[in-house]
Parts: sequence; structure tokens; C-alpha cells
Amino acid sequence: MNRLWDWLGAAISHAASIATPSQRQATLHDLAAPLLAVLRSTVIADDPELREAILATVCDSAVQLSQMLLEVVDASTRLPPDQLDELGVTRLARHCVRTLQDELDRPERRGGDWSITEFEAGDCCDDCVHLVAFLINAAQQQLVWPLAKPRRQHIHQRIDQAELPVTHRTKREGSPHKLVLTKTSDLFTRDAERRSTTQGWLHSVQQLAR
Ligand SMILES: [Zn+2]
Repeated sequence: MNRLWDWLGAAISHAASIATPSQRQATLHDLAAPLLAVLRSTVIADDPELREAILATVCDSAVQLSQMLLEVVDASTRLPPDQLDELGVTRLARHCVRTLQDELDRPERRGGDWSITEFEAGDCCDDCVHLVAFLINAAQQQLVWPLAKPRRQHIHQRIDQAELPVTHRTKREGSPHKLVLTKTSDLFTRDAERRSTTQGWLHSVQQLAR
């Protein structure tokens, strides 16, 4: 069973590091059922230490696993109530409540705030650092950036991979041509949708977090 968790723990940590949000969520979604199964196995095999190690890992708030944990909690609702504590589902539910509440406690995006903060350049390159500076700038909606073709393509690829609400087009004048990046109003729609989804999740998971 430890080997099973070694595999699953590595799979979860890999999934959490996927740069494309929709792919990350889909991969984590596929791991929710195996996670619940492994937790249940620790009860059957009477291995509380392993269960504790699993719960501590997945509740590590540095890793954003909320949606997967919510699915585990949701899939557990058909189990007898006394098993929920034993499995650690109550603890997962409480963790989800805290995470969701923290997210809702953040101030709502003000009109005219164009900052995009979820993109991380890592230690990629100076162009990515420049991209981040544009993205986090709340007052700047557009960037016109003279850039040679391979570097333009790199920036296109990073934006598409991260599914950012930013369009990119090339203005074919001057040398090098100019890359024109524009933040779109999807930024505001996505934020509003996310808040309302988070509110819904919080409402349903609160029932199990008592
Ligand atoms: Zn880069």
C-alpha cells in the first residue's frame, strides 16, 4: 500500500505542477477517486500512520488541490457518517472550507484593475520576466513590444499554455516587428464566475465540515 501511495503522491504532485490550468484540473479530477480508494484502504488495512501522512500531504496549503479534495469529499457523502471521521474526510472538508473562505476573503477585483497575478515566469528567461511585469501591472491593458520572431513565438506559447485572458498579435511594421499583447475583459468575467463557483462549493462542503 505504501507503494501505491508513493505512486499516487507523485502523480498528484506532478498534476499540481501542470502549467495549463484546464489540463491540471482534468488530471487532478482523475486522481480524486484513487485518492479516496487509498484512504479507504488505510482503514481496511488498519494503517493510521499512512493515512495521517496522506492527509498531511494533500492538506499542504502550498499545493492548490482544493478542487480534487472537494471531489473526494463529495464522493464520500454516500458513506456512513461514522466512516467520514475515520477516513479523514471531515478533516479534508474543514481544510476545503478554510481554503475556499481564504479565497473569498480576498478583495473583489475593482473595475479598471487589469492585474493578472497567477502567471509565474519561474527561471525561464528575461522576456518572461518582462511579460510578468506587464501582466501584474493593474493600470496597463496593452503592451506593444518590438521583438524578433522566435522570442514572439515563445511569448505566444507561454500565454497560450497558461490560458491567460490575453490576446497576442503581430504588428508587421518596423524591425523587429511588434508583438501587441492585450488583456481582455474575460479577466473580469472569469473572476466573477470563480467567486460564484467558490461560494457554491463552500456552501456544500460546510455541511460535512462540522
Ligand atoms: Zn521565457
